[in-house]
Amino acid sequence: MRPRALLAFAVSLVLFLAGCGDPARNPSQVGGPPASAAPSPPAPKPTTTPRRTTPPKPRLRPLPTTLPAGLHRSTGDRAVALTFDDGPDPRWTPQVLDQLRAAHVTATFCVIGSQVKRYPELVARIAREGHQLCNHSWRHDINLGRRPVADIRADLLRTDKAIRAAVPKARIPYYRQPGGRWTPEVVAVARQLGMRSLHWSVDPQDWDHPTAQTIGKRVESAVRPGAIVLMHDGGGDRRPTLAACQHLIPELKRRYGISRLR
Ligand SMILES: [Zn+2]
Repeated sequence: MRPRALLAFAVSLVLFLAGCGDPARNPSQVGGPPASAAPSPPAPKPTTTPRRTTPPKPRLRPLPTTLPAGLHRSTGDRAVALTFDDGPDPRWTPQVLDQLRAAHVTATFCVIGSQVKRYPELVARIAREGHQLCNHSWRHDINLGRRPVADIRADLLRTDKAIRAAVPKARIPYYRQPGGRWTPEVVAVARQLGMRSLHWSVDPQDWDHPTAQTIGKRVESAVRPGAIVLMHDGGGDRRPTLAACQHLIPELKRRYGISRLR
């Protein structure tokens, strides 16, 4: 009996030690730091070589085939709203702000948290000059709405926190999902955090390298009273957008009026 008991003990010890790696790794696979978090050190790896080769990818919720309810898609009056996404950017955002100031109009800026952290003074200028702020996620994660609700919440809170580090007590009444890839979950989390979900009604696709003339034509042919126009002040070469705005801003102001979202 004794050798048997010893053997059983040895076997269970081996099994116990071999199993140790799994619970240690599980947190990073299941509920660890949000996938959207900025570069954070990876979870410590077990020193023994694991039998498992690739960790399972976090499962993404399917994207709904239609836009969920509760999206804000018009200004509610005749005036149109200009929204600028993916900044702040030191090269483009000041030029957009200069144009808006020269035309005596205000807009809404959907800012990326990691950019806010790098360029807080630009966010301060946006707020100081009377523009509206909108949370555009921490790192422009187009799949954020498909992630676990806790990850969505952490991402939006982190971005709000960066904005408020730049502009204490900033009002952030809107969230805009990168890529327009909305899910009911991201809309609900934004609402719980006091933000309305901001979509758009006019998208000239200025991110896709059209000429300034094309951007202008696309906006002018699609714009209606109360339109929310999507353009970009970050994320690439924005010279065509800026050139288009030279004409668009005064023209839209004359035809409809331009107001920031409230
Ligand atoms: Zn964007």
